[in-house]
Amino acid sequence: MQFLGTTRINHEGRLLIPKNIRDLYHLEPPKKIELFYKDHGIYVMTNIKNTQKGIIRTINWQGRLTIPTRYRQKLSWEKDNIIELLYVDSTSFFLRGDHRVCTFCLKSYTDMVMIYDKYICDDCLQTALGKKYMINQTTSFKNCVTDLD
Ligand SMILES: [Zn+2]
Repeated sequence: MQFLGTTRINHEGRLLIPKNIRDLYHLEPPKKIELFYKDHGIYVMTNIKNTQKGIIRTINWQGRLTIPTRYRQKLSWEKDNIIELLYVDSTSFFLRGDHRVCTFCLKSYTDMVMIYDKYICDDCLQTALGKKYMINQTTSFKNCVTDLD
């Protein structure tokens, strides 16, 4: 699947479909779409097939889409999570939760270091390592550095 872009889920469980992707799929409000939970993500079908397997939603006038609570819970998508949009075909795309979000700056990067189940980006890691020398080796920083070796 080809990468189309990213968006962020808000406190109401809504995410903004970026303009370029709305244009690509002709998603002018009040366009109805169908959502399917599958493969640890959500397929967004812009051609509703009425198979009644999915959940029908409407894109609002701001280009936002509310992700059903049930799907969010299954996927552990929470406020401020970054969601990747991937091209499936000319009528559908895929929403994939990206948990590779830096614990400190909340930005998403393709390569990050994992320390104790948390991702950290290179910028924040460098900052942390820089501080390590300034604050004279706290236990937690010492452990992080050991893990990186
Ligand atoms: Zn960071």
